[in-house]
Amino acid sequence: MNDQAHLELQKQLERLNQQFAQRLHSDLAELAGLADELRRSCTADSRRQRMLALRERLHRLAGAAGTFGFDPLGERARRLEQRADRWLEAARPTTRTLEALARAIEQLARETPGKALQAAVLEPRENPDEQPPACRIYLLETDPEAGANMALTLRNFGYLVSPLRDFTALQDAVDARLPDALIVSVQQDSELERVAQLQQQLKAPLPLLVIHDHFDFASQLAAVRAGAQGFFARPLDITQLENSLERCLDRQQEPFRVLIVDDDAELAARYSLVLRNSQMQVQILAEPTRLFDTMRSFNPEVLLLDVNMPGCSGPELAQMIRLHDEWLRVTIIYLSAETDIKRQMAALLQAGDDFITKPISDNALIASVYSHAQRARSLSTALARDSLTGLLKHADIKEQLALEVQRATRSGKPASVVMLDLDHFKQVNDRFGHAAGDNVIRALANLLRQRLRRIDSLGRYGGEEFVAVLPECSALQARRIFDEIRGRFAALSFNSGDARTFSVTFSAGISETDGRTAPGILLERADQALYVAKHSGRNQVQVAQQ
Ligand code: GH3
Ligand code: MG
Ligand code: MG
Repeated sequence: MNDQAHLELQKQLERLNQQFAQRLHSDLAELAGLADELRRSCTADSRRQRMLALRERLHRLAGAAGTFGFDPLGERARRLEQRADRWLEAARPTTRTLEALARAIEQLARETPGKALQAAVLEPRENPDEQPPACRIYLLETDPEAGANMALTLRNFGYLVSPLRDFTALQDAVDARLPDALIVSVQQDSELERVAQLQQQLKAPLPLLVIHDHFDFASQLAAVRAGAQGFFARPLDITQLENSLERCLDRQQEPFRVLIVDDDAELAARYSLVLRNSQMQVQILAEPTRLFDTMRSFNPEVLLLDVNMPGCSGPELAQMIRLHDEWLRVTIIYLSAETDIKRQMAALLQAGDDFITKPISDNALIASVYSHAQRARSLSTALARDSLTGLLKHADIKEQLALEVQRATRSGKPASVVMLDLDHFKQVNDRFGHAAGDNVIRALANLLRQRLRRIDSLGRYGGEEFVAVLPECSALQARRIFDEIRGRFAALSFNSGDARTFSVTFSAGISETDGRTAPGILLERADQALYVAKHSGRNQVQVAQQ
């Protein structure tokens, strides 16, 4: 996040605080009115009703006031809430305690709240969207021909590669601009010592891959000391190197998606701002009946659920969500002013994963949501990803396809479904071995990941079949993209175990959404187009007739 955006966020937070201060005025007046009515009530029943209403208001106030910086007010409201609780739970509630409580509430309302405490200063963070789209690699290779060849292959994968001939050139390049990763090809361990020195000058060591003439203990130790995350002997298997590069670059994560369900609009807006400042994607829902639609369109990883809402409680909502297996991966956190541990436990036993007690500091909110989101995502990734390619598995890419088709129907923008299959892959296995075949599959997965956008979904549909779903992309655009990928893939040179090289091609079929066709039919159409591509000579991309 740049300074301007940070300033804007601070202004928004300030505005929210002011809005809350204004609302507080009327909230307190209302509390005083309720306290007065309570005192005048004659029947046991009406007293009870008013006390319940008062407790509800105090509960909300206790949660919200602390969050907006009115800490002492929040604490007083909480103590009064507890007193109301005790009165409601007493076997024989007395008029004396009721009157004392009403007076205390009126007193609280009379005392205008002091200035809100300074809102916690939020640290600006880097925006992942501002990252350059392609990764920059410096490649140190003294042999110019080998360097040029490697650079060509890596460029085909979509990297920006600068081949450098010697160490001085590397040092100059690093001084001028830091790359995202470093690949060094060395003959002796002493060269790695120079790399280690270069790494030490930097604030953080660069991701490093080492290609070495020797594969012994000493050279691997020297590589690790230079900060290597990958080590390759010659003859070099470039697809393995690329695979390792992909892993160590630790691609920028997509922002976590958090859905807040809270009927208190200002509080929800505040939480949303705080989380958005930490690069999370946040949606607010005030109307619980729209929960499932919102979950389907937004696909949150974490749900922050208010406990007390009119019409439907948080634990009830959580139980409804848990009736559906498709939402099993969503972490449910209750956001509540509830401090009674027994009630917290009761809510958690019904459904839900954690409790955040209002008021909560901005940093604690971020930390809690972040850790839950991270865990939810890694679990979900482990469950949904194919182990060879890291792509979505069969069932998950189909699920993703259904989501994207729905989204395309709502937005009225076309989406494309691509089905892709390696050509004569059986022969590849037969001639070069299954391990070499695996390498090809991995390389294609990596290439697709590199070339497609973050919003595109990719899955390994079967052994050597892939499915991609491209939102906001017509079939013609998709054909252009996949034709380009097809060219790059065909240009890749693979190594077999015994130093033979070979190349592989693929064929693809594409269908486009039209706002009425079911996902299964779109997939079938793409498959038919793929069939046409296979029978027209392979190594080509075909678009299905509508
Ligand atoms: P076509 O161009 O018509 O698609 O020919 P093909 O040989 O690719 O088609 P076919 O469906 O007959 O063979 C697919 C082969 O893919 C058979 C199988 O051994 C291989 N295969 C499937 N999954 C894997 C895998 O995970 N690793 C490896 N190495 N091979 C796989
Ligand atoms: Mg096949
Ligand atoms: Mg095939």
